[in-house]
Amino acid sequence: MNFEINNLIRENIKKLTPYSSARDEFSGEAKVFLDANENSLGSPLPKWYNRYPDPHQLQLKEKISIVKNVAIKNIFLGNGSDECIDLLYRIFCEPKKDNVIIFPPTYGMYEVSGNINDIEVRKALLLDDFQLDLIHLENLIDANTKIIWICSPNNPTGNSLNIEDIEFILNNFNGIVVIDEAYINFSKQHSFISALNDYPNLVIIQTLSKAWGLAALRVGMAFASTEIIDVFNKIKPPYNINQATQELAIKALEEVGQVNDMVRELVAMKVALIKVFQQIPIIEKVYSSDTNFLLIKIKDARKVYEFLLTKGIVVRDRSNVKLCDNCLRITVGTEKENTLLIDALINYLEINSL
Ligand SMILES: *Cc1c(COP(=O)(O)O)cnc(C)c1O
Repeated sequence: MNFEINNLIRENIKKLTPYSSARDEFSGEAKVFLDANENSLGSPLPKWYNRYPDPHQLQLKEKISIVKNVAIKNIFLGNGSDECIDLLYRIFCEPKKDNVIIFPPTYGMYEVSGNINDIEVRKALLLDDFQLDLIHLENLIDANTKIIWICSPNNPTGNSLNIEDIEFILNNFNGIVVIDEAYINFSKQHSFISALNDYPNLVIIQTLSKAWGLAALRVGMAFASTEIIDVFNKIKPPYNINQATQELAIKALEEVGQVNDMVRELVAMKVALIKVFQQIPIIEKVYSSDTNFLLIKIKDARKVYEFLLTKGIVVRDRSNVKLCDNCLRITVGTEKENTLLIDALINYLEINSL
């Protein structure tokens, strides 16, 4: 493989003089801070919210470094994974010229973010078993293909992609390979984090939004070589992770045990849901899931979706998505929520004499 990071980064980004914040220019100990035009009197809130947060989120990265076993210099934090996705486009993709490849059906933000950045998004539909079509992929790659977006475990299909296929792409593609591991805590497969040093073209994205239960805080993580992380830091908005989020995430990251307990419980409830779904005659297929949601193929999916709405239950209707016709995506809820869902489905059967 002939990977050269400097051939991939956009010229304007290479030449960019980054914004230098007050906190960048002086970050040591001092008694009097008169450099950032904050309100020196305080705020209506207690504590230190009148001050700008650490732009490099060092304390938070220290915690993530321990939990994920990755050096701080290989970690970037975004305002949700969605910011990491957008910044990857801005680092590597020249509008109206470069292209990326996605494997639908997959997470919607790769395409939306590409469209916002005016980047051509090429599609290699997954195979019928929801695995990668490497032959189609090869036909789509050209000299302007900068990023291949891989989501594993994949949303909305729920399965993990074959490791050998991912490794084949990592070993043979000279551009950036992003692996979105939003659901990795629920998966039987291992994270690619331990392979970071083997692949200079690898970017792994994870999030605190799913297993960690912190979707409201907006913390996304990118793990990559220092060369790539340095460019992320060069172009990010200076204070992209706010102070309240940094404090709360630091606290949460001390509770790995509690999170692992919740993951186990969610997986057990998922297994129980699968068993019930398999007894429901209109459910034609329950796809295997390495995540905290289930994709099911069901007779008249849209009608079932609407019916569940009348019962106050919202699932995700994926029935208009290619390869997902008549499919609903259902998040594993609490015991009580799952029971409400099952009762509603049984009620649907009764009403329609099914
Ligand atoms: C939910 C999800 C995310 C999380 O995005 P955040 O912006 O971090 O909340 C990322 N990727 C996939 C595939 C997801 O399903």
